[in-house]
Amino acid sequence: MDAQFWTRKTLADMTRAEWESLCDGCGRCCLHKLRDDETGALAFTNVACRLLDLASCRCSDYAHRRRRVPDCVQLTPAALKAIDWLPPSCAYRRLAEGKDLPDWHPLRTGDPDSVHRAGVSVRGRAMSERDAGALEDHVAAWPGRMPRARHTPAVSPVIRRPKPAPVAKESLP
Ligand code: SF4
Ligand code: SF4
Repeated sequence: MDAQFWTRKTLADMTRAEWESLCDGCGRCCLHKLRDDETGALAFTNVACRLLDLASCRCSDYAHRRRRVPDCVQLTPAALKAIDWLPPSCAYRRLAEGKDLPDWHPLRTGDPDSVHRAGVSVRGRAMSERDAGALEDHVAAWPGRMPRARHTPAVSPVIRRPKPAPVAKESLP
């Protein structure tokens, strides 16, 4: 994979491996969202899809996710144009908005755990929908904000590919 390919290629021009490596594994997109029927306003919750592994922040059945969770959304360059619910830290959203990847992104650090060490992932902050009850009781502002990294890892020339999970889910009331 070309080093810093995301600075030279458009989202549409990336290979599948490059596209999938953009996912930082934060798990934020797998949190349920609520949308106001009248205003269209979006609210994040801290309630995760039942397939999200709350420790790794990865989908526990990525290969079969679409069958098990039919409203899990496959991110594509075309789909990005119509999606307004990705968190501001999401690499796909950031690149689509002309921004760069943050310092804690695994493609910059070479370490898939840097997203957790930076306090950006949902680890320790989300609960499963199996335990949550009403989503309205779990509205949270933090998933919709750009996180302040607790620790900014040094940039490394080593590029490793994180486990793929470039998918997201929206829950409508
Ligand atoms: S698709 Fe975006 S929000 Fe979802 S886990 Fe990957 S980087 Fe995070
Ligand atoms: S990738 Fe889809 S099915 Fe898997 S945890 Fe996220 S929202 Fe759920």
